[in-house]
Amino acid sequence: MTSIQLISAKPLAETEIKEILAPHGDFPATEYSVKLDPELLDGYVLFVDNRRLDTSLRRKLAEIEKQLKAGIPTEQVVPYKPEVEEIGQVIRTSDGIVFSNGLDHVMNNEIVIFDSGVEGVSMDLGPSETGIMLLGSESAVRSGEYCRRSYRTAQVPCGDAMIGRVVDALGRPLDNGPSIPDYAPRRDLETAAPSVTQRQQVNEPIYTGFTAIDAMIPIGKGQRELIIGDRQTGKTTIARDMIANQKGKNVQCIYVAVGQKMSTISTLVQFFREIGAMEYTTVVVASASESAAAVYLAPYAGCAIAEGFMEQGRDVLVIYDDLSKHAQAYRALSLLLRRPPGREAYPGDVFYIHSRLLERSARLAEELGGGSMTAIPIVETQAGDISAYIPTNIISITDGQIYLESDLFFAGQRPAINVGLSVSRVGGDAQKSVMRKTAGPLRVQLAQYRELQAFAQFGSDLDSETQRSLELGVRLTEVLKQGQGQPRSMAESVFLLQLAIHNAYRDLTPDELHEFLRDYLAKIRMDNQSLLQEIEMCDKVSEALYARIQEDYRAYVEQWMTMRSAS
Ligand code: ATP
Ligand code: MG
Repeated sequence: MTSIQLISAKPLAETEIKEILAPHGDFPATEYSVKLDPELLDGYVLFVDNRRLDTSLRRKLAEIEKQLKAGIPTEQVVPYKPEVEEIGQVIRTSDGIVFSNGLDHVMNNEIVIFDSGVEGVSMDLGPSETGIMLLGSESAVRSGEYCRRSYRTAQVPCGDAMIGRVVDALGRPLDNGPSIPDYAPRRDLETAAPSVTQRQQVNEPIYTGFTAIDAMIPIGKGQRELIIGDRQTGKTTIARDMIANQKGKNVQCIYVAVGQKMSTISTLVQFFREIGAMEYTTVVVASASESAAAVYLAPYAGCAIAEGFMEQGRDVLVIYDDLSKHAQAYRALSLLLRRPPGREAYPGDVFYIHSRLLERSARLAEELGGGSMTAIPIVETQAGDISAYIPTNIISITDGQIYLESDLFFAGQRPAINVGLSVSRVGGDAQKSVMRKTAGPLRVQLAQYRELQAFAQFGSDLDSETQRSLELGVRLTEVLKQGQGQPRSMAESVFLLQLAIHNAYRDLTPDELHEFLRDYLAKIRMDNQSLLQEIEMCDKVSEALYARIQEDYRAYVEQWMTMRSAS
C-alpha cells in the first residue's frame, strides 16, 4: 500500500489538499495523513513512499545558504526548483558509516545528501539498506533523518582551473581561493584504466633530480615506481624534490596527501609556493583528521585530475603519499561494513583498490594525444619489513621500487637508497643513452664495494686492486649523496659520475670530496654550460669529451685545494 503524508506550513483547505494529492492516488479511497509544521515557513512537503516533493520556504532558503557557503557570488546563486526526490531514512550510524533504508535505486559510488547538509558516498548496496560513507562530520547526522539521492557519482573538477590549487577529495578548494568554476570539466573518481591498445611503450625519461635514482633506478614517463621505507627515511623528500625538479619541464604535478598531519601538509604547500612549484602543481588533501571516506577517496581524486591532463596530451606526475594510510582507511570502512577481514585484518579486495588506482597510469598512444601519467606511490614499512601484506601487494602492482633504509639514513647516506633492493623494471628503456652508458657499471661497482667493505673490516693486508676498489666505492657513494632541495640535471649527474668512475677523485678524502662537490657543482653551472649541453646532446661520453671534463676538473681541484689550505 502506498503511504502518503502531507506536511504543510499553514492550514490547507480540502480542495487544496485534493489538488496536491490528485496525481498520487484515487481519493478519497487512498489513505493519507496531513500534518501542520510551521517550521516550514511556507509551502508544503509531500511524502509518497520513498519519494519526496519539498516546496517549503525553509528548503528554498537552505539551498541558497548552501550555495553562499560554497563561495558562489550572490548574483550567481540559482533559486531552488522543487522536484521529486528519491529518499531514505537513517537507521543507524557507526564511525563514519551511515546505514539508511529507502534509496531503492541508488548507484554504487553515488553522492547521497543528508538533510543536515552532510554528504556521503554510497558504498554498500543491500536489498533493504544502503551503507554510506560520510564525507563530513558524523555528529551532524541524526537517526531518522532523511537523505536523498543526487543522481551523480563522486566526481572532481579537472583541467587548468585546478592548477595551483589545494583541494579536498571532491575537488572543493581548501586554500581560501575562488571557487572552481562550473564550466571546469568533471570526471568520475573511478574510471577504467586505458586498455592495451590505447597505450604505447614507456621510453622517455622523467628526472627526479637525484643522481642515485636517475642513474641506477631510472623512471620513465607513464611508469609506476614505488617509494618504500620506514618512517622518517626521506620518502616524502624524494617525492617533493621530484616535483620541484619538474619546473620548466612542462610536466603537470599532483601531490595527494593521504591521512597526513595538517601541519606537515601546510609546510609542504608553503615550500611549493616558495619555489614557484604551485604554478604547475595541484595538491589534493585528505588529512588524518578527516573521515575515513575522504582518505579513501583522495587518491582516486588525484588520479582523476591527472587523467584529465593526460587526456589533453600532457605529461603528468602524480604522487600518492602514502598508500599504507589509504589501505588502513579502507580497512576501517570495510570492518564497519562487516566485510570479512582477511590477512592482517585487511578485506580481501584491498589488492584491487590499489591495482585499479595504479593501472590508470599509462603512456597513451599517439592517436590519443600521447600524454602520460607517471605514478609514484609511497608505502611505509614497519622495521624494514617489505614482505608485509600491503608492501608486497603494491610491489607487485608497480614497475619497481625505491627502497629506503633507516640504517643508511642514520649513517648519513642520504637519500638512503638500498641499491641492491631497488629496481626499475622499465626505466632502462627510458634512459638517455649517455646516462645508461655512464651508469651501467655503477650497480656492480657498488655491490663489489659493499662486499669488500665488510671484508676489509677484518683489517688484513689488502692488495692494490682491492684498495682501488674500496677507494673508488667510498667516493662513488659520496657522489650519490645529495641533500634535499639540491636537484642535479641529467648532464650534471653524468659529469660528476664520469669523474667518479674514472677514479678521478682519489686525491680527495671523502670528507673533502663532500665539500668539493658542492663548490664544483656551482662552478660547473656558472662556467661550463656549453660542456653540460654537449653531454646532454651526445650519445656517449667519448674519450675526447672525457678529456675535457677531466681537464676542467684538474684545473679546478688544484685551485680549490690551495684555496682550502689558505683558509
Ligand atoms: P614520514 O614517515 O614521517 O612520512 P618520510 O619518510 O616521508 O617520513 P621525510 O619527511 O621526507 O621522511 O624526511 C625525514 C627527515 O629527513 C626530514 O627532516 C628531512 O628534512 C630529512 N631528509 C630527508 N631527505 C634528506 C636528504 N636527502 N638530505 C638531508 N636530509 C634529508
Ligand atoms: Mg612522509
